[in-house]
Amino acid sequence: MNLDVLVLGAGPAGSVLAHRLAGKGFQVAVVESQSFPRYTIGETLTPGVESLLKRAQVLSSSVSLDFPRTTGNLSAWGSSDLHYSAYSQESTVCGFQVERAVFDSILMASAQQAGASLLQPCRPMEVHPEPAGWRVKIRFQSGASGSIKAKFLCDATGRSRFLARRLRLGVRSNDRLVGLTAYWKQDADVVSADGCNTLVESIPEGWFYTAGLAENRRVTGFMADRDLLPAHLHSCAKRVYSDALARTQHSRERLQRAAWDGMVRIFAANPTLVECVAGSSWLLVGDAASTVDPISSQGIQKAITSALAASVVVQTILTRPNQTGPAIEFYQDREETTYRLHVDSLAKLYSRETRWIDQPFWKRRASHADSAARETGDSSQRQAASSSLNDGTRFRVSRNTRLLLRPVLEDDRIELQEVAVTAKESRGMRYCGQVCVPTLLSLMEDGPNVLMLHDRYEKQAGTVAISRLREVAARLVDVGILSVV
Ligand SMILES: Cc1cc2nc3c(=O)[nH]c(=O)nc-3n(C[C@H](O)[C@H](O)[C@H](O)COP(=O)(O)OP(=O)(O)OC[C@H]3O[C@@H](n4cnc5c(N)ncnc54)[C@H](O)[C@@H]3O)c2cc1C
Repeated sequence: MNLDVLVLGAGPAGSVLAHRLAGKGFQVAVVESQSFPRYTIGETLTPGVESLLKRAQVLSSSVSLDFPRTTGNLSAWGSSDLHYSAYSQESTVCGFQVERAVFDSILMASAQQAGASLLQPCRPMEVHPEPAGWRVKIRFQSGASGSIKAKFLCDATGRSRFLARRLRLGVRSNDRLVGLTAYWKQDADVVSADGCNTLVESIPEGWFYTAGLAENRRVTGFMADRDLLPAHLHSCAKRVYSDALARTQHSRERLQRAAWDGMVRIFAANPTLVECVAGSSWLLVGDAASTVDPISSQGIQKAITSALAASVVVQTILTRPNQTGPAIEFYQDREETTYRLHVDSLAKLYSRETRWIDQPFWKRRASHADSAARETGDSSQRQAASSSLNDGTRFRVSRNTRLLLRPVLEDDRIELQEVAVTAKESRGMRYCGQVCVPTLLSLMEDGPNVLMLHDRYEKQAGTVAISRLREVAARLVDVGILSVV
């Protein structure tokens, strides 16, 4: 078999990547080790995933996901009171509680419809780099084996990281979080006032979550640090899980008229980042590149957005080899930035729980609290500054703003373009609210106000709403690209 791209793993990342590349006319195959439909953990889809999949044409715009909907989250964090936080005021924005066996099969079927071949259940056995790409030996569960030649190899094998391990790539890790998960079935006449919304509750040893699923089932999980749990965890997981559940208040209430199926599964759940996520003929995508703490419920969304970016990177490298360097740099930078922002947001979130600061799980996480608090202080000061802007306010380009050439995603390819860089915006900004920042900066020599700037930008680059330009100016002041005169 001769391919343009071989994708290892058919989770959300592998399927969306295969779909995009097959849709662009590349010869793509996916090797998946398990038979679908197959169980995996991670049921909560944050709002926005469905529309993301529709925009990427992985889901047809006329089809809606047929899973229980959610309207927000419940949490008892920092106090024993339960707070409900809605996704939107009128509950118009929805997330979903999916059955991953079904959801992942939908995504894989969509990749096949776009033209990707699926080899399943099948495993890569050996990978050999060659001058024009890779030779990969595969073996089906049936025992049949074969060899595939591919110009480009993508590792979407989740946390098992088949290729990353073969390439001996280093992994950065933030903590040792693991999840002990279990499923419950509620009595048929139980109607939960929470719907299927996820409930998260902190306890001295970590935190606990539960969420409703279809057919009155509930997923639950106890999250704690592996080194703070017994060394022989596999033999006492049920007891550890039950003890943790017994320490909850709200989760226990939700499970009062429910029966546990008696199983506990253990998953690694710590945020991680592989130090090098792409080369000239390979890349890592989804959890294979980086993982997030499940408290964010962002793993699937991140896997999908990472696959969309990866598809542009692969396309750029295969069709415009002279842009390989910028494409790799773009992807590496994107994964690192996503990870850094995630770790920063975790520090802020965990520091809000101060009741058990003397407990090892919380003490460790409090070590980031000072920097998180400093950052919050910075951003509230910036927000105060931008809220005082009005149409008469005049702006200039800040003294420390530099225009540099950086790889950016432009239409369906990656290329070097000018971006505005400051200390707070070290990655560089090309677009802000669809306004081209370097173009905007080129119109600011005499310190114009928003109205003048709007007039000039429209003449130079096309229509933009004045309200949009006001927001952009405020954001650029926030990140230090513009200063008020
Ligand atoms: C306790 C816990 C709770 C979570 N809850 C949520 C949640 O509520 N919401 C959310 O968005 N995320 C959640 N996540 C994270 C989420 O599950 C992952 O981020 C997401 O599944 C990543 O998708 P992926 O496609 O990168 O990898 P995966 O979904 O792991 O897919 C990898 C695929 O590769 C296959 N594979 C593995 N090895 C090989 C091999 N050698 N050869 C071929 N195929 C192989 C696997 O069979 C699998 O199909 C949770 C994670 C944990 C641990």
